[in-house]
Amino acid sequence: MSNIFEYAPAPESRAIVDIKPSYGLFIDGEFVDGTGKAFKTVNPATEEVLAEVAEASDADVDAAVKAARRAYTRVWSRMSGSERAKYLYRIARIIQERGRELAVLESIDNGKPIKESRDVDIPVVAAHFFYYAGWADKLKYSGFGETPLGVAGQVIPWNFPLLMLAWKIAPALACGNTVVLKPAETTPLTALLFAEICQQADLPPGVVNIVTGAGDTGRAIVSHPDVDKVAFTGSTDVGKAIARAVAGTNKKVTLELGGKAANIVFDDAPLDQAVEGIVNGIFFNQGHVCCAGSRLLVQESVADEVMERLKRRMATLRVGDPLDKNTDVGAINSAEQLAKIRELSDIGEAEGAERWSAPCDLPANGYWFAPTVFTGVSQAHRIAREEIFGPVLSVLTFRTPSEAIEKANNTPFGLSAGVWTDKGSRILSMANRLRAGVVWANTFNKFDPTSPFGGYKESGYGREGGRHGLEGYLKGEDS
Ligand code: NAD
Repeated sequence: MSNIFEYAPAPESRAIVDIKPSYGLFIDGEFVDGTGKAFKTVNPATEEVLAEVAEASDADVDAAVKAARRAYTRVWSRMSGSERAKYLYRIARIIQERGRELAVLESIDNGKPIKESRDVDIPVVAAHFFYYAGWADKLKYSGFGETPLGVAGQVIPWNFPLLMLAWKIAPALACGNTVVLKPAETTPLTALLFAEICQQADLPPGVVNIVTGAGDTGRAIVSHPDVDKVAFTGSTDVGKAIARAVAGTNKKVTLELGGKAANIVFDDAPLDQAVEGIVNGIFFNQGHVCCAGSRLLVQESVADEVMERLKRRMATLRVGDPLDKNTDVGAINSAEQLAKIRELSDIGEAEGAERWSAPCDLPANGYWFAPTVFTGVSQAHRIAREEIFGPVLSVLTFRTPSEAIEKANNTPFGLSAGVWTDKGSRILSMANRLRAGVVWANTFNKFDPTSPFGGYKESGYGREGGRHGLEGYLKGEDS
């Protein structure tokens, strides 16, 4: 069945981006050939190979760390905060100027809808650089001292490639550190375009180094003896491996890991607004969101009504070409991720939950998964416990606020939660009892550079964003 609203396709032109056939590594201010192998990055919406990208070897990582150390000692840590701020402001402005190019490239390499990369990712990326530029000459008011750590090794995932880069690089540079960053192997292209922006901004060579590659390259960065700080965003399993690898060293570590957020709807909530929040919570960015509202907890008295309205709304979601401005749900980022989503969804059915997928025509090529909801889910089901990291919602019900809290907190994760109710007092009491780093009330997935973000329990430690985001990049008041 096709979508109930017919519409004319409105694709954004990709002519603005210039994708080269092959890319090297960005070390010491220049693009250099890697000494290792190369890998391909593909457009997940079409399976078209976009480019060959260098896979950084241990020797390449070592060269990048050496360049970062030189830049730290000779230039960046000696520069005044207000001088560093000028570079960060310049980078922020160039990101805005080249925003369309960055948004189109992000959608091509990642599969996310252009309306999200254009209206969410890229503006928040620029805002992050502006925000931390403002801190660079005010670190004495941070409460965390003003002394940088040195060289930061940073490893990021594929779901928000440029946004995760901004969350890592902006606070690190503002505090006077230099960085070696590795983007995810399926989404390296916007990080490489960011490297060009560093050149355009005349950032001193070695302050930012971008090395591409997969897990082995990431391992080489985090275990490099001359890296002072490790910042990682990604899966909980890899986060645990990194925590083990750096244990016993002097490296400072922040880990932003997985989540399984509860989105809790009470019977007094404005239901149409809540349905929009549920849709945003789980279908934004194809559900490839660490803080996605992947467990819907709905009060029993309104469960049937909410499900009816939710399915009606889901039937209007437009799934398809990420570059089409009408698209709501784009492509799954990789064949591996699609296989994982399929496997966990099949397990959900085998465990007895009832599956419903929005009726939509999926493109023949590329990696696609229709927006899906499971009802009749129990807390023991794997789809209620494990992160699916795709457009799949598990629905559970509750009767009392205490039962909602108990179910919401019954997870090894603790990254985020949502509460939908008319009562302000209930919002406050729920927020106090939810073991989650971020609690949204009558909204979901709102990000702002001034607001700290991070997890409890297996969702990691440390905060990114806001004044708190400086802590991970400074030595502390009494050191
Ligand atoms: P992943 O852990 O597989 O990979 C993340 C990054 O780590 C990639 O760059 C990868 O190449 C690298 N890597 C892999 N093995 C490594 C190793 N042994 N040592 C060092 N680096 C290694 O995660 P993913 O599948 O790319 O991303 C999805 C995960 O990220 C989800 O679990 C999601 O919840 C999480 N995430 C968390 C946040 C947050 O802020 N908490 C934000 C976005 C994504």
